[in-house]
Amino acid sequence: MLKAIELKPGKEAPILRRHPWVFSGAIKSPLSGFKNGDFVEVISHKKEVLARGYFQESSIAVRILQFAPQGPTSLRALFQEKFRNAVQLRKVLPIDHTNTNAFRLIHGEGDECSGLIVDSFNNVLVVQIHSAGLLPHIDIIIDCLREVVQPDAIIMKSNTTVKDGTNEVVYGSTEPEIMIQEHGMQFYVSPLEGQKTGFFIDQRDSRAFISQLTKDKTVLNLFSYSGGFSIAALRGGACAVTSVDSSTHAITFCEKNVSLLGSSNHTAIDADVFDYLKDTSSQFDLVICDPPAFAKHISAEKAALKGYARLNKAALEKVAPRGLFATFSCSQVVSTASFESAVTSACIELGRPARIIHRFTQSCCHPESLFHPEGRYLKGLLLQLDY
Ligand code: SAH
Repeated sequence: MLKAIELKPGKEAPILRRHPWVFSGAIKSPLSGFKNGDFVEVISHKKEVLARGYFQESSIAVRILQFAPQGPTSLRALFQEKFRNAVQLRKVLPIDHTNTNAFRLIHGEGDECSGLIVDSFNNVLVVQIHSAGLLPHIDIIIDCLREVVQPDAIIMKSNTTVKDGTNEVVYGSTEPEIMIQEHGMQFYVSPLEGQKTGFFIDQRDSRAFISQLTKDKTVLNLFSYSGGFSIAALRGGACAVTSVDSSTHAITFCEKNVSLLGSSNHTAIDADVFDYLKDTSSQFDLVICDPPAFAKHISAEKAALKGYARLNKAALEKVAPRGLFATFSCSQVVSTASFESAVTSACIELGRPARIIHRFTQSCCHPESLFHPEGRYLKGLLLQLDY
């Protein structure tokens, strides 16, 4: 028998719409009897079982793993089932596994695994836990991943929201730097040292798109991290690529990755993007702008939108007449419409009319739950300027 968490009358609607978060304000039961990780049944005030999930001590009190109250009743069996489904999905997605061996295996709510992220880098799995309620279950998660995926190694990567402090190889063995392939391009990834899981797989499809636009072009890649877009641009035939990032670690990796390609058309600049944009007078045929999230919480949305307008204005000034501008936002709380209007304001303020050539989103191994709009985070525009 699982412990039950009873909702206040009328609070069952989001669960019936398959929203995976239960907020503490919706709960009638006293929460003092629950601790992080408790696997619980969520019931209505009429005592109907609505869903199962795990408890976490925060405003999101339960993360749902199973809506239909049938099927596996142990966490182990549930994770096994979900991981098998996720592996199956990756087999049918349009990922060419002959030239790409980095993909997201588990994308939180999009794979019905709220709170869990797993990236696969050449069969080394990098696990990130985004909920304190999953920490007590790490061993089960690792066991299930070993059983279902049979990886060469598993790395636990710490995540600041959970403050677990874990950052280690927990199964198998791996070099600290893993060589991956994406559309035939090679990259070194350092999960233990790098940002997030070590590589931004969510931009794979955008990088492939961009590489088709760069023949004989000059390219500026702002917030370049380990050079994902820079390598894509060089591969596409760019005659000169400049990468800018304020992390020395990122710039070192970027240069290492460029050297794998053997290109001499690249300049890496270790600088704050805002300072760089102030100081440079150059213009480029294509400017790519992919900053980190500007807002982590809805309260910061307004400030984030101002930040996007300011950054995009400064970056747009570096686009040559008739040039291209690829601009992104990975802030969950900033909607596509708001982001596009921030970019539009920047174009209007500069007096530089533009047309939308393409809209970007995250690569296909990052599925989104239809019922969890908060999971939609990455959006991007490709613009061509009139002059
Ligand atoms: N486009 C990259 C991912 C970018 S992640 C890819 O495809 O892999 C965001 C990057 O912005 C990080 O590398 C971080 O170091 C960098 N960054 C954050 N703030 C910055 C700033 N003010 N100036 C320059 N770089 C910054």
